[in-house]
Amino acid sequence: MAGEPQPDCVFCKIVAGEIPATVVRKTERTLAFRDIAPKAPVHVLVIPHVHHPDAAALAVAEPEIAAELLAEAGAVARDEGIEDYRLIFNTGAGAGQTVFHAHVHVLGGKPMTERMV
Ligand code: 5GP
Ligand code: ZN
Repeated sequence: MAGEPQPDCVFCKIVAGEIPATVVRKTERTLAFRDIAPKAPVHVLVIPHVHHPDAAALAVAEPEIAAELLAEAGAVARDEGIEDYRLIFNTGAGAGQTVFHAHVHVLGGKPMTERMV
């Protein structure tokens, strides 16, 4: 069921403390931790504790948590001392999503000026 922990989900396991992660921020509803394969000097993932397959599904089901995800992404950037950063929501395997638990990538600490759109 949407929102319920999924047994095979790596991010649900991180929320449950079953897989270690370098946590940088935690709230009652969100968790921010460093990506295991960083693509930039700052590469943090912000996830909801609850399981939804992607960020848009989260926003439909639990809009307040989706808003908190964005607020926490900004707080991560502030904590890391970066003013300029990129937020990425890969959605669907064809767009590069590999973990189907909603998350936003916070990327920065280097020039992020290359355009994708
Ligand atoms: P996606 O490709 O789904 O947008 O992003 C998933 C991200 O999760 C990838 O950047 C990947 O490196 C990261 N990741 C996958 N497994 C783990 C893990 O066990 N720990 C951490 N910290 N990051 C992970
Ligand atoms: Zn999950």
